[in-house]
Amino acid sequence: MSSLRTRIAAVYAALIVLVIALGAVAIDFALRSVLIDQTKLNLADTADQIERTALEASTFGFAPEGPLRLTLTLSDRGTLDHWAAGHQYIQIDTVRQQILGKSSNLGGVAFPPFMPPPGTDRAYDELRIGGERPGNMLVLDRVLSDAQGRPVAIAHVGERLDIVDQLLSRARTILVGITVASMIAIVIASYFIAKSAIDPIERLTSAVAEIGSERLGRRLKWKRRDEVGKLAGAFDAMLDRLQSAFARERQFISDASHELRTPLTIINANAQMLQRWGDRDPEITRQSLEAIAEESGRLAGMVSGMLTLAKAEAGDAIPKEPLVLERLVDDVVAHARERAAAKGLEIEAHHPDGASTIVIADAGLLRQLLNNLVDNAIKFTESGRVDVTVRREDGRAVVELADTGPGIDDEEADRLFDRFFRGDPSHARSVEGTGLGLAIVRSIARVHGGTVSAHARPEGGSVFAVSLPAEPESFTGGS
Ligand code: ADP
Repeated sequence: MSSLRTRIAAVYAALIVLVIALGAVAIDFALRSVLIDQTKLNLADTADQIERTALEASTFGFAPEGPLRLTLTLSDRGTLDHWAAGHQYIQIDTVRQQILGKSSNLGGVAFPPFMPPPGTDRAYDELRIGGERPGNMLVLDRVLSDAQGRPVAIAHVGERLDIVDQLLSRARTILVGITVASMIAIVIASYFIAKSAIDPIERLTSAVAEIGSERLGRRLKWKRRDEVGKLAGAFDAMLDRLQSAFARERQFISDASHELRTPLTIINANAQMLQRWGDRDPEITRQSLEAIAEESGRLAGMVSGMLTLAKAEAGDAIPKEPLVLERLVDDVVAHARERAAAKGLEIEAHHPDGASTIVIADAGLLRQLLNNLVDNAIKFTESGRVDVTVRREDGRAVVELADTGPGIDDEEADRLFDRFFRGDPSHARSVEGTGLGLAIVRSIARVHGGTVSAHARPEGGSVFAVSLPAEPESFTGGS
């Protein structure tokens, strides 16, 4: 019973057998009551005839002829046999419950004496009659009255129920036969139906089991259009996503090890220099320590960048709250002003649509996103200015950073956001960096349901734009 198809077949068979059994009981009951009703009608017909004859006989002539004639008529075996007509049994009793006459087919058997309770004059009874041909019999007892309504005799009219029982038992045999045959047919049919439904699932299971993390390139490519086909399609799509996620992870690990190796090699080389000549040459000591400090700082920056990236990519786990975007931008710009001024740059925040754009975000991550963009703008711009503008566009909040730096190559615009990507060495290598800043910007934008893009400005410099979902204006109206 462990396989699904056996269980399905068994459940179907049990259900159908239950339905057929209930139907059989209902048919049995209905058939029996129809046949009994028919028998009752037959009995009532004969009893009516006897009643009419008794009434006629009792009103014929004067006493004592009336009662005498009645007694003669009701005890006449020929008349009783005529009424009995083969399949009914008749017995007439006096009101004192002595037998007056019987139809000859009753033989030595007699109906038990019966006097209907006061107020009723007829009753049907199922009796078991002894004698030569014992059997179940339905008996109608009726009190016969004269014209004045006085009881004069009691008629018992019986009909054997053998025929009813025979009919019912034959019907039962047929029903049991149908039940057994249909049960066998249903068990076989439902086994094969279940098998045809479940076999593809089994094949899917073994195909899936064969695909381990080492064979992620395999696809099921099933052409079926049914539910199992859809499942296989969904599975292939999931494998696509998994495969690219694995590839991204591998790329990240190899990029990260590669990037971490350079500062580590420099630190190591300088430490060896210190070991060998540090004691003798103070200049070497100074230079080595400087290089070690610089490279370990770079390492620390890279590690914290990777941690932020991991946090940003955690997605739903980030707690978000409503915050006013313009306020955050003003704050980030205010903090950056000193660094900009040190390079002779101007930095300004603008919000032409007012100061009340609400976004649902993690304040720390959003600040980090803005800081990275502002830092880059200051880092790569030699002279001129940086403008940070907050606008509303089609119900979204857009932050745009425009600088007067070297600009970017439009073909490279998308790759800038890849992890560890650093642009043109002529300007990127001359400034500090890890190549993680813009990857962090993109991840933070994504977990907030936003996007980020970059393009060169025709007049020189570049623009980085972040678009985030904003709360409706009505929500922000009050603030
Ligand atoms: P990093 O700044 O550490 O190099 P980022 O991921 O922040 O790393 O930036 C990736 C690359 O994008 C940079 O190396 C640089 O070439 C380019 N870039 C970023 N911001 C600017 C900008 N404001 N102007 C010109 N180029 C930029």
